[in-house]
Amino acid sequence: MKWTQTLIPTLREAPADAEILSHKLLLRAGLIRKLAGGVYTFLPLGLRALRKVEAIVREEMDRAGAVEVLMPALQPPEIWQQSGRYTTASNVLFKLKDSGGREWLLSPTAEEVITTLAANEINSYRQLPKNFYQVSVKFRDEIRPRFGLMRAKEFIMKDAYSFDASDEGAMASYQKMYDAYTRIFARCGLQAFPVEADTGVIGGNYSHEFMVPADTGENEVAFCEACHYAANLEKATSGIPRTAARETGPAAEKFPTPGVVTIEALSKAPYSVPANRQIKTLVYIADSHTVLVLIRGDDQLNETKLAARTGAAAVRPATVEEIVALLAARPGSLGAVAKIPANLKVFADDRLQGANDMTTGANEDGFHLKNVSIERDIQVTAWFDLRTVSAGEPCVKCAKPLKIRRAIEVGHVFKLGTKYSEALNATFLAADGSRQPLVMGCYGIGVTRTLQAIIEQGNDKDGVVWPLSVAPYQVCLTPLAVAPDSQAMQVAEKFYAELTARGVDVILDDRDERPGVKFKDADLVGFPFRIALGEKSLAKGEVEIKPRSGAMLSVPIDGAVEALMNLMSAGAVK
Ligand code: ATP
Ligand code: MG
Repeated sequence: MKWTQTLIPTLREAPADAEILSHKLLLRAGLIRKLAGGVYTFLPLGLRALRKVEAIVREEMDRAGAVEVLMPALQPPEIWQQSGRYTTASNVLFKLKDSGGREWLLSPTAEEVITTLAANEINSYRQLPKNFYQVSVKFRDEIRPRFGLMRAKEFIMKDAYSFDASDEGAMASYQKMYDAYTRIFARCGLQAFPVEADTGVIGGNYSHEFMVPADTGENEVAFCEACHYAANLEKATSGIPRTAARETGPAAEKFPTPGVVTIEALSKAPYSVPANRQIKTLVYIADSHTVLVLIRGDDQLNETKLAARTGAAAVRPATVEEIVALLAARPGSLGAVAKIPANLKVFADDRLQGANDMTTGANEDGFHLKNVSIERDIQVTAWFDLRTVSAGEPCVKCAKPLKIRRAIEVGHVFKLGTKYSEALNATFLAADGSRQPLVMGCYGIGVTRTLQAIIEQGNDKDGVVWPLSVAPYQVCLTPLAVAPDSQAMQVAEKFYAELTARGVDVILDDRDERPGVKFKDADLVGFPFRIALGEKSLAKGEVEIKPRSGAMLSVPIDGAVEALMNLMSAGAVK
């Protein structure tokens, strides 16, 4: 490809709305352009890199035994009603009407479609296992699209769905995808690592996210360097001890605390109740049910855990009005000891089990209760792990201190069980003649997000630093004179032909620009190798090979292609 033939609109400055480095570089290197918030056009070079990521994904899916299909982006709402997700996923669903007034959905993912297909086409255990995948555009009505391709309204996802006759079969399918993901991200030059992930409404214990460490990531991961335990903070647990038992009074006792509405205020004189001797009472709406949640004063509630434990699709804190209507007291004075409606469910964090000599709100503004013994004074409906882990807490597996870091979720593997097959009636005839629901797994990779994660991880002050495997072009030939009869251009054309014949992706910068401009652009776009063809070195019979992040080498013209091929195979990401 010749530079002048394609479109590489590099920019000196990124537009002001690009917040993170990879987003800025996508724009500055002329890889994408914004059409609207969360909606982007891929320019020729961005598309080439994207296609390479997709090719790696396809190769590894095929290698793992999955077969490619292509499902429609336009989906009828009925199957979403059948699975229940028309309601539970309604916040991300794009809905539209056709001219006849019929409603359609734009696919955010395709469990319902593939399960409908399986219900019709898979009949017998003899057809199992099967794994279908597609690479296609997905739509999600993200409230806050941001960071370019990271959180877009329209993006490309690879989604795969496995169907098995048994749980063991489903685990084997899951493991194959897990291994394939490990290979995919390694081949993309990404340091991605698997972490235990929340299974949300779907339940079950088998879910891993593949995370790329990055300060700009929207996830937090707790991990242990000693034993390699790693989990999304939404799911992570630790070996932190329960609250220490103490001497306490015979009964809970009310005392005045005028104006005290925070844990911190109560921890100060004259009250001086340390946060770890306080019970924080929170009111939450889990789907449509109101629940009380008890957490130790120095802990933070993890809403994802609350949703997972209560089986709710969504949880939210109750509003002040809702709280006052329920408990006749305002936030800051709430408790679960007295004056709570019958049948109100009370969920308490495990760490409070056995806690006594605690202080909590009295459900009366301006008063608290002391000498509270949680098991004696509060009717706890269920104990759950509900708190968020903090850095430094002992690892749940080996007790060494946990660390926390931010990361980008690029992939997610999930053991689904029979949730969708039961809802959509996808059964098969088992070997023993019985009819059983198909056992499923689903596996997603954000292909466009992965592309941006590669840039977020691979860059320097001059621009993108692509891994060879996904670079839009592997080599940029930079003749410093571009007249057709110049020696520089003639050698460049010759190299172009030779390298192309050897399967190398080459771009020839035939722009009549100053060398400085060409070099800057080549570095900004991030081609792994640049070959400069300047008059001075050509006169000495040499050209200059510059690896993107390595030292320049002068090599004889005749040996240049061979030298480059050697450099490429030495540094290649396999
Ligand atoms: P997130 O928690 O980031 O919203 P998710 O858990 O809802 O993502 P999944 O349903 O697991 O996403 O989708 C599979 C993959 O698709 C994710 O791992 C991610 O890489 C990608 N993805 C999800 N939402 C978006 C989006 N809005 N823009 C770009 N990629 C996305
Ligand atoms: Mg996910």
